[in-house]
Amino acid sequence: MSSLPDPIQEGLKRGWKVRGAEFGALPPEITVDVAIIGSGAGGGITAEMLSRAGLSVLIIEEGPLRSSSHFKQRESEAYPQLYQESAGRKTADKAITILQGRCVGGSTTVNWTSSFRTPPSTLAFWQQHFELKDFGVEQMAPWFAQAEARLNVSDWLTEPNANNSVLERGAAKLGIKTPHIRRNVKGCWNLGSCGMGCPTNAKQSMLVTTVPAALDAGAQLFVQTRVQRLQHDGKTVQALHCVPVDLSSAAQSGGCVVKARHVVLAGGAINSPALLLRSQVPDPHSLLGRRTFLHPTVATSALFAERIEGWAGAPQSIYTDHYLETQAIDGPVGFKLEAPPLYPTILATTMAGYGRPMLEQLSQYPHTQVLLALLRDGFHPEAPGGRVQLRGDGSPVLDYPLTATVMDGVRRAHLAMAEIQFAAGARSVQALHEDSGQYKSWAEAKAGIAALDYRPLSTRVVSAHVMGGCNLAGREGLGVCRPDGQHWQLSNLSVHDGSLFPTSIGANPQLSIYGLVTRLSHGLANRLGAKAVNLAG
Ligand SMILES: Cc1cc2nc3c(=O)[nH]c(=O)nc-3n(C[C@H](O)[C@H](O)[C@H](O)COP(=O)(O)OP(=O)(O)OC[C@H]3O[C@@H](n4cnc5c(N)ncnc54)[C@H](O)[C@@H]3O)c2cc1C
Repeated sequence: MSSLPDPIQEGLKRGWKVRGAEFGALPPEITVDVAIIGSGAGGGITAEMLSRAGLSVLIIEEGPLRSSSHFKQRESEAYPQLYQESAGRKTADKAITILQGRCVGGSTTVNWTSSFRTPPSTLAFWQQHFELKDFGVEQMAPWFAQAEARLNVSDWLTEPNANNSVLERGAAKLGIKTPHIRRNVKGCWNLGSCGMGCPTNAKQSMLVTTVPAALDAGAQLFVQTRVQRLQHDGKTVQALHCVPVDLSSAAQSGGCVVKARHVVLAGGAINSPALLLRSQVPDPHSLLGRRTFLHPTVATSALFAERIEGWAGAPQSIYTDHYLETQAIDGPVGFKLEAPPLYPTILATTMAGYGRPMLEQLSQYPHTQVLLALLRDGFHPEAPGGRVQLRGDGSPVLDYPLTATVMDGVRRAHLAMAEIQFAAGARSVQALHEDSGQYKSWAEAKAGIAALDYRPLSTRVVSAHVMGGCNLAGREGLGVCRPDGQHWQLSNLSVHDGSLFPTSIGANPQLSIYGLVTRLSHGLANRLGAKAVNLAG
């Protein structure tokens, strides 16, 4: 057990009201002002703002309550406990692996801390195509500023690790700008294991910021409790039907009926639309669960003579938007480049190939460097995202076709990353594509990648950025939710999470959720007759 202070254990000792799993059975019925489903980026911000505004708040979270004392920097413990489907969630055709959190703090407990405001071009697209007139850069700026102040989003002044330095060095040789990434950390030890939960509480995730603030203000928290269904009459939600679940999310005996004046759905993209689909809420324009985006993420790996040790140090600290800014937002799919952390299990399961060649590559793990490209989906008509559907047991699955337009972006991203890696001095580069060779020069890679067949399932695609499915819009027929987050048909239901985005962001999404939800929660507190508080400042 670590001797570092653990804010969760301390809060529990102070008398936080937590139920579920080891914290005791759920009551059969409970009534509150606001029930919040999910405790991630959207749920955490909402919980702090509404409970500090004086409303009685209940947070309901499907995953467990874990904290720094449990976080041992081990993938084998983190994935089954803290991630949806043990980090093995996949799209319907299994072509894309999806990483999402499932624990108190949601994905923010396991995310990599990169913090970007919503790009101006994305906001302008929403204003133009989704009638979100008040979503200009200036209107959003004060809300981002509050979230940044509350979560200590600040410049990261430590030298980038060797994995990120390759991006900086190679891009500089090609005349491409690589700014530094801002991070939401305080007193960070530069360990690099953010994806397994922060063992020092430096990451300013919801687990150590807004959720504790809400609990200190009197909010209640149910853990390992899934909201299975909303009971409604087509106009308002009357009750939430909850089931206790075990660590694998399998339902256990017992249950709880929650009654609330207002319900805030913050289960994250995929799970939020799935709950609404399971509950058969009104969907007159057949929009629910559609336009779900992933920033389909593809990678190239490179071998260097020197050791890279990409598992150590701040995961992502350098980026370039060169390949977003040099093309029209609704043209061929653009991409943001970053360097991801190289955790052994994720690396091994994402590498191309199998058998002896794969063994040989993995034996070079300390010398391996990886670049990733986040593809900006949702802007081109032939990159329309995916659709959330329900399996027979009511669990969600995302059907996401990798269209030719998206695959064209994948090829261009592989080429761009290989060129940068060779410019930085790589000895060889491989696209994470089943048929890719270990190219020994940029000329060889250019010809090799150009000749690859980008057919379905040929290339490794992952996503840690799930967005959309309950999109905001200024007009009913264009979206699932109103610009203030309220569901267009159910008057006491709001959605406050990444599922609100009408397109992908084109940048890592956490700060976009924090800023947007700060604004929505301020408005909701007022609508509920409470005195709205600021998140900061
Ligand atoms: C490994 C990883 C790395 C990432 N790195 C970055 C990064 O560096 N920068 C960045 O900007 N973004 C990053 N992200 C993405 C970012 O963390 C997410 O976009 C953001 O947290 C999503 O917020 P959300 O509120 O929509 O959902 P989440 O934060 O995922 O929270 C949703 C919560 O709701 C719970 N829930 C769902 N359904 C139910 C239900 N029916 N009943 C009860 N509870 C339910 C879930 O268990 C979950 O805890 C990363 C994500 C991952 C997984």
